[in-house]
Amino acid sequence: MYDVLVAGAGMAGCVAARAAAEKGKRVLLVEKRPQIGGNCYDCYDSYGVLIHPYGPHIFHTDREEVREFLSRFTGWKDFRHKVVARTGEGLIPVPFNLNTLHQVFGPEAERMERKLTEIFGEGSKVSILTLMKQDDPDLQRIGEYVYQNIYLKYTMKQWGKKPEELDPSVTSRVPVRIARDDGYFTNRYQGLPADGFTPMFQNMVQHPLITVWVNTAMEDVAEVRENRIWLQGEPFEGQVIFTGALDEFFGCRYGRLPYRTLEFEFLHQDVPDYQGHSVVNYTVSEKFTRITEFKHLTGQECPGTTICREYPKDYKGTEGEIPYYVIENEENRRLYSRYLQEAQKIQGVHVLGRLAEYKYYDMDAIAERALQLIRQLIS
Ligand SMILES: Cc1cc2nc3c(=O)[nH]c(=O)nc-3n(C[C@H](O)[C@H](O)[C@H](O)COP(=O)(O)OP(=O)(O)OC[C@H]3O[C@@H](n4cnc5c(N)ncnc54)[C@H](O)[C@@H]3O)c2cc1C
Repeated sequence: MYDVLVAGAGMAGCVAARAAAEKGKRVLLVEKRPQIGGNCYDCYDSYGVLIHPYGPHIFHTDREEVREFLSRFTGWKDFRHKVVARTGEGLIPVPFNLNTLHQVFGPEAERMERKLTEIFGEGSKVSILTLMKQDDPDLQRIGEYVYQNIYLKYTMKQWGKKPEELDPSVTSRVPVRIARDDGYFTNRYQGLPADGFTPMFQNMVQHPLITVWVNTAMEDVAEVRENRIWLQGEPFEGQVIFTGALDEFFGCRYGRLPYRTLEFEFLHQDVPDYQGHSVVNYTVSEKFTRITEFKHLTGQECPGTTICREYPKDYKGTEGEIPYYVIENEENRRLYSRYLQEAQKIQGVHVLGRLAEYKYYDMDAIAERALQLIRQLIS
C-alpha cells in the first residue's frame, strides 16, 4: 500500500513526507507523540496564550529553496530575534556587541570601541580568546568580561560541566560583534509562521498520498527481520526514512547515546508584560538558563502572559523525557557510528534528522537535508 514509510513527524519527517508525496509516492508517516511538528510544535495553553512546549523556536534562514518550500504552507510574521542577558549591569544585549560595550563600560566604551574598530575593523566578529590574548588591557578586559558574565556560568548550566571540562575550542569561538547590531541571528529571512508552526505542518502533510498515524511509534507497526523492515507483518519493499533516536530503535544494545534534556517550567502571570523581552538569558545567576515570554515572540495580543523557565539536565531516557541536545565528542560519535552501521545493514532504511543523525540542526538545515534526501532517493 505504501512506497515510503517515514518515522517521526518533526521538520525532517514532514518535509520528507510531503516531498515524496509530490513525487507520486504513497507515504505512511508515523509519529509516536499525539501530535505532529516534533520539537517545533506550538499550541495554545489553558489561558489562550500561544506557547512552544518544547522550547522557543524562531525560523531563520538564507536558504532560498527551504524558504520557498515552507512558504507554500504558511505566511510569515517577520520577527528579528533579540536576546538579552541578566548580569550585574542589568539586561544587556547578546551576542556582545558595541551597544553592549557602551552599556557595560560607560564612559570608557568610546576608547574601547576605537581600539576594536582600528584593530579588527567595523562590522567584523572577533572571538573572546583573541581578545584575551591581546596586549592591550582594554581589549583583555572586554574578553574577560564576556567570558565571565555571558559565557562561563551559562555554559556550565547548559552542559552540566565544570569550567575545566569546557572545550577551549568552543570558548575561543564565542564572538564579540564589532557592530551596533542587537540581532541574535544574521540571516536574511527571520520570523515565525503567521498562524504558528503547527498549522504549517498540518498544511504540509495535507496531501492525498500522505497517511498520518499519530500515537504510533515505528516499533508499534514495524520490525526488523532478516535485515529488512516488516510493516504490520508484511515485508516492506519501499524506502524507510527514520527520524527517531537510533540507539532507542536498536533497544540501546550498545549503550545509550548521551544527550542533555530540558525541564520546562511554564507559569502564567496576570500582567500584560513580564520581562519586556522574548528571551532573557540568566548568565550569572539562577539555576535556569533562560526565561521565554511567548507573547513577545509570537506578537500575540492578550491580557495576561505565559513565561517558561528552562532547566537543562542529563537525559536518562525515563518515560516522557525528551533528548534535546546531542553531546558532541569523539566517544559519542564512535558509539553513534555502531548504531549507524546497524541501520545501514537494513534494506531501504535512511536516517534523517537531529536524533537519527545524532547532530544539532537548525530547522532550515534539516528541511534542506530532507528535500535533498528525497531528490536523491526518488529521481
Ligand atoms: C530548545 C530548542 C530550541 C530550538 N530553537 C530553534 C530555533 O529557534 N530555530 C531553529 O532553526 N532551530 C531550533 N531548534 C532546532 C529544531 O528543534 C530542530 O532543527 C528540529 O526540531 C529538527 O527536526 P527533526 O524532525 O529532526 O526532530 P524533532 O523535531 O525532534 O522530530 C522528531 C520526531 O520524531 C518522533 N519520533 C522519535 N522516535 C520515533 C519513533 N521511534 N517512531 C515514531 N516517531 C518517533 C518524535 O516524537 C518527534 O516528533 C531548537 C532546538 C531546541 C532543542
